[in-house]
Parts: sequence; structure tokens; C-alpha cells
Amino acid sequence: MRRPDPSVDTSGDETGAECPYCDSTDTEREHPKGPSLCRSMHYCNDCEQPFEKFE
Ligand SMILES: [Zn+2]
Repeated sequence: MRRPDPSVDTSGDETGAECPYCDSTDTEREHPKGPSLCRSMHYCNDCEQPFEKFE
């Protein structure tokens, strides 16, 4: 069942990844390259560092 609720966003597959280096949320999600689907690659536009985020 789908229950649209903008106040509850648990997917977080668009934005919202926080850079572990500078705490910026100006990040982009990169395409997964490996079989590990439990984590995703992100790229920080502020400090230009790639980082992994576990989900
Ligand atoms: Zn950063």
C-alpha cells in the first residue's frame, strides 16, 4: 500500500545524503557499480569528495 506522506521520508534515494567530511548536503548520488546494494555512493559538491553511505 502506498501512503503518501511528505513528512515521512525514509527512502532518501534522491537527496539528503550528508557529507561526512564537511556536513554539507549539497551531494549527488552516483550510480552503483558493485553488488553491494546496501550502500550507495555519493559525491560531495562542496569538498569534492566521494563517500559511501550505508542504508
Ligand atoms: Zn563535503
